[in-house]
Amino acid sequence: MILDGKKVAAEIREKLRKSVAFNLANGLRVPKLVIVLVGHNPASEIYVANKIKACQEVGIDVEKIAFEEDIKERRLLTEIRKLNNDQSVDGFIVQLPLPEHISESKVLTTIDFRKDVDGLTPMSMGRAIQGLPAFRSATPAGIQELLNAYNISTEGKHVVVIGRSNIVGKPMAMMLMQRPYLSLPNMSASSMGDATVTVCHSKTRNLDAICRSADIIIVAAGSPKLLKAGMVKEGAVVIDVGINRVDDASSPRGYRLVGDVDFENVVSKASYITPVPGGVGPMTIAMLLMHTYVAYNGRVLGLKMK
Ligand code: NDP
Repeated sequence: MILDGKKVAAEIREKLRKSVAFNLANGLRVPKLVIVLVGHNPASEIYVANKIKACQEVGIDVEKIAFEEDIKERRLLTEIRKLNNDQSVDGFIVQLPLPEHISESKVLTTIDFRKDVDGLTPMSMGRAIQGLPAFRSATPAGIQELLNAYNISTEGKHVVVIGRSNIVGKPMAMMLMQRPYLSLPNMSASSMGDATVTVCHSKTRNLDAICRSADIIIVAAGSPKLLKAGMVKEGAVVIDVGINRVDDASSPRGYRLVGDVDFENVVSKASYITPVPGGVGPMTIAMLLMHTYVAYNGRVLGLKMK
């Protein structure tokens, strides 16, 4: 069965749209998200445009602040501190990757975790590891919501995560191994966890055998067709995070997007599987909106993170 991230994300957006409209009708302001974009990375520009469109659909006030590629690190950090202190801003994100002369870790460390709706700062991750309220990294959070939506429990399951990046693999593994996660105020009850997790990466030996022992496989490697049918146990759940461009002369763009899973051959073995596109991607954006709404609730309705 296909795990339809596009549909579940649309349902989340619709719920948020109604909540935003309800609050507005009752005299409250709308939530505000700021997106900081540095330079002109073509993929980043597309991601940012999609995020802006999604915000507008649900009625979130969204502002893009764009800086040229050569902005000085010190100036960018000053702008981030201004956003931290700006009472009209509920949440903000700095679109990654950043140009080489800017330290990603300095940027992330400067963002106030209460406004960190991407859930990527060391403070957010550290708090999440300790079970304290914090925004979860958007992509893993979206995967949890997607599993929730299809009533797929992770309790006691062996989950193999391929990839150990700070934005996907590590936070995903951490969330899965937690005791059921402490929900934030007004966030849907995404209380998954209690899994036995194996994290794999490029130095892992016997990847095939490890994957075959998994009840759930989450692939976030950025390597087309990495997960083959022979690596998947009959009936396993397969979540494909990868977004890869492969040449395709028949497409008007000259390329098409594929995931990290050999979908055509794995689909018949998996009990549930996400497509690319239309699986994890839309869920990631839906989480950004949900987190912005939660941050807004904290500021407007007084449901604060402590
Ligand atoms: P990174 O490149 O930061 O990390 C990739 C990870 O995969 C690394 O840990 C790497 O191992 C591991 N890896 C790579 N090749 C193999 C292999 N052959 N066998 C085992 N492990 C391997 O990528 P990200 O985590 O940022 O992103 C992963 C993919 O997910 C990308 O395609 C990206 O575009 C996509 N993505 C999709 C999102 C969405 O919303 N759908 C959001 C974010 C990312 P090592 O550490 O040893 O190098």
